[in-house]
Amino acid sequence: MTTEHVAAAINPWEVAQRQFDLAADRLSLDPGLRRVLREPRRELTVHFPVKMDDGSVQVFTGYRVQHNLGRGPAKGGIRYHQDVTLDEVKALAMWMTWKCAVVAIPYGGGKGGVVVDPKKLSAKEVEALTRRFTTEIEVLIGPERDIPAPDVNTNAQVMAWMMDTYSMHQGYTVPGVVTGKPISLGGSEGRNEATARGTVYCVVEAADHLGIELRRATVAIQGFGNAGSIAAKLMREEGATVVAVSDSTGGILNANGLDIDRVIAWKKEHATVQGFPGATDITNTQVLEVECDVLIPAALENQITARNAGRIHARVIAEAANGPTTPDADEELYRRGVFMIPDILCNAGGVTVSYFEWVQDLNRDHWSESIVNAKLKDIMVRSFDETFAISKREQCDMRTAAYLLAVERVANATSMRGLYP
Ligand code: NAD
Repeated sequence: MTTEHVAAAINPWEVAQRQFDLAADRLSLDPGLRRVLREPRRELTVHFPVKMDDGSVQVFTGYRVQHNLGRGPAKGGIRYHQDVTLDEVKALAMWMTWKCAVVAIPYGGGKGGVVVDPKKLSAKEVEALTRRFTTEIEVLIGPERDIPAPDVNTNAQVMAWMMDTYSMHQGYTVPGVVTGKPISLGGSEGRNEATARGTVYCVVEAADHLGIELRRATVAIQGFGNAGSIAAKLMREEGATVVAVSDSTGGILNANGLDIDRVIAWKKEHATVQGFPGATDITNTQVLEVECDVLIPAALENQITARNAGRIHARVIAEAANGPTTPDADEELYRRGVFMIPDILCNAGGVTVSYFEWVQDLNRDHWSESIVNAKLKDIMVRSFDETFAISKREQCDMRTAAYLLAVERVANATSMRGLYP
C-alpha cells in the first residue's frame, strides 16, 4: 500500500477524537463536559450549482463545521480538495478549537471545505464556486460568528471573493468576515508567511532545548505550498540546509542542499518540483524518510503512520500541516526519542496572525510587519514554553502536553459559562 492509500484508509475524525480522549483521560475530565467537547456544535452540508465555462451546470458539495464556540467565534480555513469529506472537516474544526486555546486567542474552532480539484477549473469557475459556496454558508459565517481563512488550495484571492460576496449581501464592506485577505483589502502584513514563521519559531525553540545547532542542521519538507515553501525559505534564513522537498507530484533530494528560491521558480514554471536540476527525484514517501535533523510535514493528514514511523530519521518533527501523524505513530516516535512539535502548537502562527488581521479590521487599523512578527514571536515562544513545561511536569510527549493545556482551557471556559438553558 502507498502512503496515499494508507492515509486514505485512516479516518481523521477518529484520530482527532482519540487524541482528545487521551487528554480527557489524563485530565479526568467531567463525563458531561467530555461528551460536549467530543462532538462538533454545528455541521452544515451544502450542495450547490455552478455554471461552468462550457455552459453546463455542475453541482458541488461543501461543508462548514463549528466545533466549539465557548471561547469566541469559530475560526478556521476553507479547503478546496477532491478528497475533502465531512469527517475530515470535523477533525480540522476540532483541531482549530485546541489550537486557538494553546495560543490563548479568543476563538473557537471551525473549518470548511469543498469537494473539488480547483486545478481542473478556470479562474472564472473558481470565482463562481467561491461566491456561491460563500452564499450557502452565510447562515453561519460573520465577523462575530465564524471567520474563514485560507487552507489547502485557497489563497488571498479566494478570501477577497468571499469577503466581497458577504459584503455585497450586507450592503457594506465587512473586512472582518475572513482573514488571509490581500493587504489592499484589510489583510495583515505577515499573514502570508505567518504559518511557516510560527513553525520556524517553534523549531528554533526546540533546537535550543535539544542542543541542535541550526546552522549545521538539515531539513526535509513534505508539501511545497504556502506553509512548506515559506518554511523552506525561513529555515534557510536560520542557516539550515534544506535537503529535500516534495509536492503532490513527488519530491527532490540533494544532500548538499537545495537552492530554495530556484526551486520555487522551477515549480512556478513547471507546476512540479520534480526534475529540478542537480537534484534526484524521489517519491512523496521517501521525502519523509531522508536523513535529516528536522522534518516538516506541510501537506495533508495521515502521512506519518505506524507503517513508516520506524523509518523516520529526523530528530525533530515540526507539524506545519494539520494531522500529519497518527496516534500509533506518535507512540512509536516518542519511544524512539523523536521530538514532536504538534500541529496545534506548531502551525498556530497562521491563526494567530489571522487574529491580528481581524483585530486590525475591527479597529480600522494597520500594523507594520515588524509589529506583527514581534507579537507573533511572543505568542509562539510563550506557547511553546508552556507546552514544554507541561511535557516535563507530566513526563509526556509535546502533543499530549499541548492537548492538556488546550482542553483544560476550553473545558474551563465551557464550565464557567454553564449549560444553557
Ligand atoms: P497549499 O495548498 O498552499 O499547499 C499544499 C501543498 O501540499 C502543495 O504543495 C501540494 O502540492 C502539496 N501536497 C498535496 N498532497 C500532497 C502529498 N500527498 N504529498 C506531498 N505534498 C502534497 O496549502 P497550505 O496552506 O500550505 O497547507 C498545507 C498544510 O498546512 C495543511 O495541512 C493545512 O491545513 C496546514 N495549515 C495551513 C495554514 C495556512 O495558513 N495556510 C495554517 C495552518 C495549517
